[in-house]
Amino acid sequence: MDNTVIYIVLALLGLCMGSFAGASVWRIRARQLAQENADGECSDKHEYKKLHDLVSVKITKDHSRCLNCSYQLRWYDLLPVVSWVTLGGKCRKCRKPIGWMEPVIEVGVASFFLLSYIYWPYSLENFFEISRFCLWLAAGVGLAILFVYDKKWFILPNSVNFTVMGIGAVSSLMLILSSQDKLGALFSIIGSILILSGIYLVLYLISHGKWIGFGDIKLGLGLALLLADWRLAFIALFSANFIGCLIVLPALITRKMKRDSHIPFGPLLIVGTAIACLLGNYLLYFYFFSI
Ligand SMILES: [Zn+2]
Repeated sequence: MDNTVIYIVLALLGLCMGSFAGASVWRIRARQLAQENADGECSDKHEYKKLHDLVSVKITKDHSRCLNCSYQLRWYDLLPVVSWVTLGGKCRKCRKPIGWMEPVIEVGVASFFLLSYIYWPYSLENFFEISRFCLWLAAGVGLAILFVYDKKWFILPNSVNFTVMGIGAVSSLMLILSSQDKLGALFSIIGSILILSGIYLVLYLISHGKWIGFGDIKLGLGLALLLADWRLAFIALFSANFIGCLIVLPALITRKMKRDSHIPFGPLLIVGTAIACLLGNYLLYFYFFSI
């Protein structure tokens, strides 16, 4: 197929899946608050009231509403990015701002799809290889939800974490089945899990859950299964910490952040994993080539 056609298809698909991810974020949040409310410990009553309508809506049935006035969005209000731009980022009925999250996540997922295709380090010649690429894109939609959710509310929802884990497990299995050295592939996957999830488990156990949340351990497991290579897992961990330092150090120096400020680690791990998967092989090549 012509590359231009593939780019256009991936960009449009990415925008639609980004729109789905944005809507899912609010629905999962609505359910979380409803659960908290039922347990008598709602962390945000005001937001719970606003999101209450979304609780009963199934994710597959799209009846998106304005979170402010409950106006039921029509199809022309749901066009990724286009609707947001033409409405000036405001609700068609009540004119209250919709927020930046929706267009950012739509463009984010579309960019992820395109960059994944451009920098995909493996060939796309047989069933297993094409399947692993599609699974990576599908996992990317879940990772976009986790990225936004963790950044906004410091939680990595189980439903999405388990979905990413499941996709990662299928991807790893496909790698083993298609690999000539099946035992080597299996050991590399186990190494990947130990690096991205095992280290966090140790930190979690030592600190009794103070330094790191259990959600990060589950996310690490999903990401490890997606990468399925201990060297790439190492690059992912290194990149996540490196980017974390680049963000945290200037904020600490300028005192915009306190020493005990809570930093969501999920988004860093996700970006680190994307770098490792798409650029990891180039980085390894340069490293071994330069010594
Ligand atoms: Zn409205």
